[in-house]
Formats: sequence, C-alpha cells, structure tokens
Amino acid sequence: MSNMIPIADGHSDIVVDVLRRRQDGERAVFQRYHAEPLRRANHRFLMMSTGGDAPSQNIGSDDPFWCAMMRIEALLADFADSAESVSLCLSMADVDRSAAEGKLGVMMMIEGASPLRTSLEALDLMYRLGIRSVQLTWNARNMVGDGCGEAITGSGLTRFGRSLVQALNRKKMLLDLSHASDALFFSAAELTTAPFIVSHANARAVCNHPRNLTDRQMELLAARRGVIGLCLFPWFVDPERPSIERLLDHLDHMVSVVGIDHVSIGADFIYFAPDVFAREINAKDKTGMYAKGFDIPPDLRDLSAYPLLQEGIRKRGYSEADIAKVCSENLFRVYREVIG
Ligand SMILES: [Zn+2]
Repeated sequence: MSNMIPIADGHSDIVVDVLRRRQDGERAVFQRYHAEPLRRANHRFLMMSTGGDAPSQNIGSDDPFWCAMMRIEALLADFADSAESVSLCLSMADVDRSAAEGKLGVMMMIEGASPLRTSLEALDLMYRLGIRSVQLTWNARNMVGDGCGEAITGSGLTRFGRSLVQALNRKKMLLDLSHASDALFFSAAELTTAPFIVSHANARAVCNHPRNLTDRQMELLAARRGVIGLCLFPWFVDPERPSIERLLDHLDHMVSVVGIDHVSIGADFIYFAPDVFAREINAKDKTGMYAKGFDIPPDLRDLSAYPLLQEGIRKRGYSEADIAKVCSENLFRVYREVIG
C-alpha cells in the first residue's frame, strides 16, 4: 500500500468500539486496536460520531444527552491514553499539526441533534467539549425536523431547527445534512449562510434510496461549496450487488453532476462492531430501513476497501490529483472554510 494516497474519512463510528472496550476495563483502545490498521491504510483523519439519534449511539440509556456525554468522555480519555498515535483536533491547524507529527487526527461530531433537546446552551457546551460538526437528524424525526425515514410528512425545519442552523453558522460549526428528509434538506440548505456537507451518502440516480441525494440536491450542495462523501455502506451503494465497481458508478455520476471538487469520502464502516450495530439497530429502529440486515461484501467491509477504491478510481481515468481531492483535500477545504 506504499502508493496509497492519504485518506480523510468524513464519518466514523469507531467510538462504539472505544466505549464498549473501555466499559470492559480496557484502556488506550485507539492505540491498541485502531491506530496501526488505520496508519497502514494511510488514514490521516477521522470525523468521529459521538452520540446523537441513532440506536447504536444510544446504548446504555434512553437519554441521548447522557449517551453523548459518555461517548465524548470515552474518546477524550482514550485520546489521552493513545496520545502517541492519535490527537483530538479542534481546527484545521490541529489537523495539519497532527499529520505533520505522523498521528491520526480526529474531530468529533454528533449524528442527530437529540442530545441538545431544544437548548442552544447544550450546543455551547458541546462546542467547548470539542464538537465541531452537527448532523441534524438520523432516520427518524427529532426536534429539529424529519430524517429520511419520516419523509412522508414533507415538513422542513422546526422553529428550533432554524435557530440551530443559525447558531451553527454563528459558531463556525459544520452543518451535516446526511440522513435528512428531502424537505429538511432543502429547508436547511436554503437557510444556512455557510457551506454544508452530506458526510456519508451516495447518488439516488444510481441507487434509488432515501439516504442518497438527487442531482438537484447535489447541485445545491455544490453551489454552496460543500461536499458529498461517498458511503461504502452496501444498501446505499446497490440494493442487489453492492461492490467497489458500483461505488465507482456513484463517483462517476457525482462528478458528471457537480464535478470532482465536491466529492469526498464518508465510509460509515461497522467492521469493528457488526454485532453491536445489528442488535441495536434491529431492536430500536422504527423506520424499517435496516430490516435487510448487515451482510456486507468483503470489498466494502473494512479498510482493505481503500486500495481497491483508489486503484478503481485510477482505472476510470482520474488523475492522481483528482484522487487526492476525493480522498481528503475536498473535505479539508470545506472544514478550513467553515471551522477554520
Ligand atoms: Zn449515518
């Protein structure tokens, strides 16, 4: 993998593994289990989910705020234990520094606004704790608006949702519209004054799934200088035969609609805890979107996907500079503009 181009993953759930191992009494989970495989796959950066609306982020309690606090504490403690190989990043200057030191840089986000209830003070606290990106919803409805599993209502941002988007702009926090219903997407995209991202989703024209974006949504995202992150989760790649080749079809389509500057990666891997995800999501998700189970083909399953992905992009005629844009530079450009 020596010719691997550096990778920034815009959506990681490794916190699920960090928390459960720490609760079992282990320490330095990142260092012991994750740092070396990520380094070998040439990862420079992860945007880490730390709680939110999803069942996998709410194990241990039905209180999303408590769950987010447990996850943030587990990560902060583990970053301290794993300081040789991992560093928490609050800005792109931190990301640049951690890369120069040969460490993995990690930023924190919440995947759904449920931990905030309807309090912008809770957002202020999260910012102080290091959260730099907020995804408004998961699949279900929350106090901000409807996730893609509730698209039937056709409603956009709530009053609190509007004040949250404005607060994110004011605080220079990133707005992530992954999992949003179409109505919520357009409502938030029209209100925000900063670039926004969809950190992990694919193209609906290639795979007709509500988690994926229409061409019009991608055009609006690109007009606001944002990015969409190619997602390796199989149901959003192809419902019948998910594969790297089908993922590359999404890339080609995205590039044909918005150009190479607006595509990034948000892998959404679950290789570190497939049992936890399957059990929790099947038990708690009421939208029915996860009824298909978690049978993930080998070429999309784990970090070994990246050499295949990069080689596949090359074979489709993209330049080395294009691959670098998709694998990290486009995502970092948006982070630099919004978060600083
Ligand atoms: Zn997600």
